[in-house]
Amino acid sequence: MEQNYWEAEDKKYIWHPAMQMKDNEVFPPVVIDHAKGSYLYGTDGKEYLDIISSWWCNLLGHCNEEINEALKKQVDELEHVIFTNFSHKPAIKLAQELEKVLPEGLSRFTFHDNGSSCVEAALKMAFQYHYQTGHPERTRFMCLPESYHGETIGALSVGSMDFYAKIFHPMLMDNIHFDGLDCYRCPYGKTRNHCGVECFESAEKAFKQYGKETAAVIVEPILQGAAGMRIYPAEYLKKLRKLCDEYGVLMIDDEIAAGFGRTGKLFAIEHAGISPDILCTSKGLTAGYMPMSLAITTDKVYDA
Ligand SMILES: *Cc1c(COP(=O)(O)O)cnc(C)c1O
Repeated sequence: MEQNYWEAEDKKYIWHPAMQMKDNEVFPPVVIDHAKGSYLYGTDGKEYLDIISSWWCNLLGHCNEEINEALKKQVDELEHVIFTNFSHKPAIKLAQELEKVLPEGLSRFTFHDNGSSCVEAALKMAFQYHYQTGHPERTRFMCLPESYHGETIGALSVGSMDFYAKIFHPMLMDNIHFDGLDCYRCPYGKTRNHCGVECFESAEKAFKQYGKETAAVIVEPILQGAAGMRIYPAEYLKKLRKLCDEYGVLMIDDEIAAGFGRTGKLFAIEHAGISPDILCTSKGLTAGYMPMSLAITTDKVYDA
């Protein structure tokens, strides 16, 4: 009874993201009442194992007591304050703690409110870095095949998945999309970690042709989540870092999905033993508790 009521009211009001609403007629949404640890409890009285970690965000369990207590304490002290010319202790403490564990050189923190918006900030930061250092002609971005970086217009422009971007192509920036990187169906007939990263030739060609008009290349490190959890060799990232340095192109490391231990290292780019110029993090950062993200950069970019 209760379940049917909430299902019907959902159908009446809610337009859900990243799904075809027509499917709702056959598969109505599961309305969740409460949650604990790895389990969700529906208004239908059923228990669900949250095997997608509520879209890869929930790293520390639902209704984690330690986090809940900290949130309740914080909301009684300070719930929000303007961040221009004002600051607050939790933001400063977060930066202090993260700097200790981030890849080397990442020391300047900008705060945003979801994954897509910190990707937007990273793109603008890269563009402005070149603008301020005498290269306003660097207006384009490079990205990997089947990349996913979010749903806002800039983030969608550095995405290569037609599934999300196709109908919006007329609105998007003209970026450079590599091809060939696909370890599952390797076009060179090789297997991952037993190859010479032959697919990197596409990146080399792109840098030769467009390196001087490019502000930054953006990557999901090691693991391309939305593409279907596609994993690629760390060597690809090492080669890319070298090429970026050669051509003066910045490297943006989108750790929104892979960060905070999802690949066995705290940040996935550590597998390649390199540091990016800008690192984006969101999902695991708050474990789904808050809409928050960070675009973190180096003193070099900040100083410009
Ligand atoms: C989820 C995701 C984003 C977008 O984050 P939102 O919070 O949904 O805007 C960007 N990049 C990657 C790699 C992601 O997995």
